Amino acid sequence: MNSEQKDRKLFSLELFPPKTEQGMEKLQEHVKRLTRIDPLYISVTFGAGGSTQQRTFQCVEWLVSEGIEAAPHISCISSTSEEIIGMLQRYKEQGIQRLVALRGDAPSGAGPVGRGELNHANELVTLIRQEFGDRFHIEVAAYPEVHPQAANASVDLQNFKRKVEAGADAAITQYFYNPDAYFHFVDSCRDQGIEIPIVPGIMPITNYSNLSRFSDACGAEIPRWIRKRLEAYADDVDSIRAFGVEVVSELCQRLLDGGAPGLHFYTMNQSAAVLKIWDNLGLTD
Ligand code: FAD
Repeated sequence: MNSEQKDRKLFSLELFPPKTEQGMEKLQEHVKRLTRIDPLYISVTFGAGGSTQQRTFQCVEWLVSEGIEAAPHISCISSTSEEIIGMLQRYKEQGIQRLVALRGDAPSGAGPVGRGELNHANELVTLIRQEFGDRFHIEVAAYPEVHPQAANASVDLQNFKRKVEAGADAAITQYFYNPDAYFHFVDSCRDQGIEIPIVPGIMPITNYSNLSRFSDACGAEIPRWIRKRLEAYADDVDSIRAFGVEVVSELCQRLLDGGAPGLHFYTMNQSAAVLKIWDNLGLTD
């Protein structure tokens, strides 16, 4: 990929707000290493509880102070409309231009919809557009392997379309390891007249048991051949990481070759795997 092609692609990173001061210091070191990717933006996830929300603000504030474009995630399931508008007002005053708008998952024990007045991400996008017009660039989530709670793929696609019609500018996908799922999903979107960029979300493989647990919960499939190889490595962390980098680099290459508009890396607050994948793609200047 030459530098002109690279400049036209949308490369972004995602991190989550650490719980401790020490975690924040480590994260800052990783982010400094990752800046050589020159990401278009770095997004920061948003948990349901009050203290997690405060940590998202702090993380975003730090990124802004470093001159990095920050994109806070905002989820609607556990906040009132008034609280959401308050948060958005604060982000506006901070100079934030981009948001990732999500439903979120209900905190355990909070029942199916937490205490939110808005139950789906399309309602959140509508609220943002009503209250703030075009002030924010809005990213939403997409599910090439179908959202785990959706009745079927076609219902899920129609629900994705609602978010786009409500005013989403672009989408980031849930992670996946089967590029055909992504290409098929994008084709289905185009057939439905959905033209926004759909950027694949990329999850590096560094720890099999965590990945396996997380994938079951969010409905991402780890193909059998990958699972079997990872299982065979057992506690051999170096082999897991080396294999993970190889598999995910190949996935990214296929996605870019097949026309994906960019890549959004779920960094999990680490830098080594993402940087190795980046180098394997020949994207280093
Ligand atoms: P929705 O688009 O509302 O979809 C959720 C489900 O409801 C789907 O099954 C859909 O088919 C259905 N649906 C959608 N709209 C309607 C409607 N109007 N009527 C009936 N059914 C409908 N979670 C967090 O808590 N914090 C984060 O920071 C976070 N970041 C994420 C970033 C990315 C890129 C992704 C892919 C996910 C992220 N998540 C995060 C997880 C996300 O909140 C969950 O996947 C959640 O279950 C769905 O969120 P959504 O915005 O896709 O919801």
